[in-house]
Amino acid sequence: MEKNQVHKLIIIGSGPAGYTAAIYAARAALNPLVIEGKNPGGQLMGTSYVENWPGDKRVLGPELMVRMKEHAQSLGTTFMAHDIVKVNFSKRPFTLWTNRDKELKCHAVIIATGATSKRLCVPGEDDYWGKGVTTCAVCDGAFYKDKDVIIVGGGDTAMEDASFMTKYTNKITIIQVMEKLTASAAMQERVLNNKDIKILYNSTITAMYGDGKHVTQVTIKDTKTGKETKKSTDAVFVAIGLNPNTQIFKGHIALDKYGYVDVKNHTHTSVEGVFVAGDAADYRYRQAITSAGTGCMAALDAERYLSEQK
Ligand SMILES: Cc1cc2nc3c(=O)[nH]c(=O)nc-3n(C[C@H](O)[C@H](O)[C@H](O)COP(=O)(O)OP(=O)(O)OC[C@H]3O[C@@H](n4cnc5c(N)ncnc54)[C@H](O)[C@@H]3O)c2cc1C
Repeated sequence: MEKNQVHKLIIIGSGPAGYTAAIYAARAALNPLVIEGKNPGGQLMGTSYVENWPGDKRVLGPELMVRMKEHAQSLGTTFMAHDIVKVNFSKRPFTLWTNRDKELKCHAVIIATGATSKRLCVPGEDDYWGKGVTTCAVCDGAFYKDKDVIIVGGGDTAMEDASFMTKYTNKITIIQVMEKLTASAAMQERVLNNKDIKILYNSTITAMYGDGKHVTQVTIKDTKTGKETKKSTDAVFVAIGLNPNTQIFKGHIALDKYGYVDVKNHTHTSVEGVFVAGDAADYRYRQAITSAGTGCMAALDAERYLSEQK
């Protein structure tokens, strides 16, 4: 990389959105630079099998991400194992600063920083994350046919996960820390009218255990009485929300009230030349394929923007 180089395009993030954007941008001769962040490969690095990536009936998440990176690399993408900590989108070229004091300049940016699932932060959760403890029923639900599953949360996502899981099993327990659900009335109704779903109110998980390979049991605490009980389980879906990784962009581009990037005109943001893809702007679908799809769209939009600048 040359000193004082102004890059055509910098992609921030190396999940499915970032890698797909890099593949398209590299093929369009934009010589993209991908800033990988603290979690190269993104959320799928923390899961086991992915069974809904078209063309791969069953592929390990980390293996899929390594292949995406190799694909982008083979086309000439450059990677930097830094984290972006500060941006200035008010002057052109744009300036980005990394956690290792590197200053980078570019004409266009794609934000593909994804999201981070909120965790319960209890003993055992990290050990079994991706081994039965997960956040995505749509992604992993099919692995638990006729199994005992726990959904943690009382909001819309938890209700949706619980309803979704009734396709596979009738042994579903929702654990909700409050004394009532907080989901919308319609979502609650679907769950409350379903005899396959049991709800434990005023309850929280305080520990998770397993056999080294998979989660097998949790401790549930009654928050009113303090009484703790153990429950066997085959899966724990932590459905207490996600945080978009967009804090560094606050005040530089428009974000919605939950911190997701405000999208206009497909992948454009409030700053011309700054585009967004993947979970950083998506609270609805949150899938690898939708992230890859918007990564492609952002790269095509960036290419069009850059050619118009000439
Ligand atoms: C346990 C689990 C299982 C899942 N299983 C499936 C599945 O089976 N099928 C499916 O379709 N989806 C699945 N998903 C959802 C899927 O992983 C996400 O929708 C997808 O990864 C989002 O892609 P993304 O590129 O937007 O962001 P992410 O994958 O979240 O990647 C974000 C990237 O941005 C980087 N980054 C963040 N901040 C910065 C910064 N400041 N500077 C530089 N880089 C930064 C990170 O290091 C990371 O590389 C699963 C998710 C989880 C958590």
